[in-house]
Amino acid sequence: RFAGLPAPAEAAPRLSFEFFPPRTEALEQQLWAAIRRLEPLRPRFVSVTYGAGGSTQERTHATVARILRETALTPAAHLTCVGASRAEVDAVARRYWEAGVRHIVALRGDPPAGQARYEPHPEGYAFAADLVAGLARVAPFEISVAAYPETHPAALSPEQDLDNLKRKIDAGATRAITQYFFDTDVFLRFLDRCLAAGITVPVVPGILPVSNFAQVRKFSAMCGASIPAWMPRLFEGLEEDPETRRMVAAVVAAEQVRLLQANGVDEFHFYTLNRADLTYAIAHLLGARPAPAG
Ligand code: FAD
Repeated sequence: RFAGLPAPAEAAPRLSFEFFPPRTEALEQQLWAAIRRLEPLRPRFVSVTYGAGGSTQERTHATVARILRETALTPAAHLTCVGASRAEVDAVARRYWEAGVRHIVALRGDPPAGQARYEPHPEGYAFAADLVAGLARVAPFEISVAAYPETHPAALSPEQDLDNLKRKIDAGATRAITQYFFDTDVFLRFLDRCLAAGITVPVVPGILPVSNFAQVRKFSAMCGASIPAWMPRLFEGLEEDPETRRMVAAVVAAEQVRLLQANGVDEFHFYTLNRADLTYAIAHLLGARPAPAG
């Protein structure tokens, strides 16, 4: 048997897939091809991001509504509180509830480009924990929140960041989804710290299959995810060779998820970037199989 994989009978990983709302007709088609390909894997939910500062409010809503209307999937809508009043955020949430959406991924959001420090809106929810409490007053949503195995870049300390995660859970969130990471030990140590802090809800690893290493390196510097020393070497010389890059990316992510699985992790959230191929292959390695037709 493939080392580290559970026997098929036990192999039913719980999956969720994250998408972003498309900006153009071509991207819309790409997204829907990905959704259709991944749908038979029966994820627990699929989530749709909310563009920086709420810039995709309408497109996020439209994508989530179409998922509800045209698929058997359970959608979760991301919602941020940066740059909006409590009344505005509550109205967006209420509209989701009325459309039949029952799951929100509640986030603070980042300050707008060019503004270094985060400033809460004067009438807004200041942090994600306040947003979680506010959403719970709007309707009995299922609420997921963000967690940072390598600590959020603006946190005063890892302890303060963990306290913040605990506050979000205490305010009503029932799942944490992590920022992506590449060092499995970092995540496993974080799980231990969460447990020690009394966080008993699922803390689900966010898995980013790296289809474009140069882009991921740039983004990681901003969001506080570290690039392990072995990683640049693996992608070296493949800048103009997307096919080999994809194969290497599959191996990197496969090793990561299998190691997590061998350590008892059975729930995974994939940052799909609206592409199905890597996510589908890695989910397959984890033991996921499409539902039989009919
Ligand atoms: P918070 O939990 O509010 O924490 C933000 C920072 O403030 C942390 O450093 C925390 O320690 C600190 N803090 C919290 N409370 C206090 C306090 N009372 N006093 C002082 N410091 C405090 N962004 C988007 O724009 N759209 C998305 O769709 C989106 N989806 C995401 C999904 C996931 C799974 C993840 C991990 C991130 C996502 N993000 C998204 C990015 C997110 O908005 C940023 O990482 C943002 O900087 C922090 O959001 P948060 O919800 O973690 O904030």
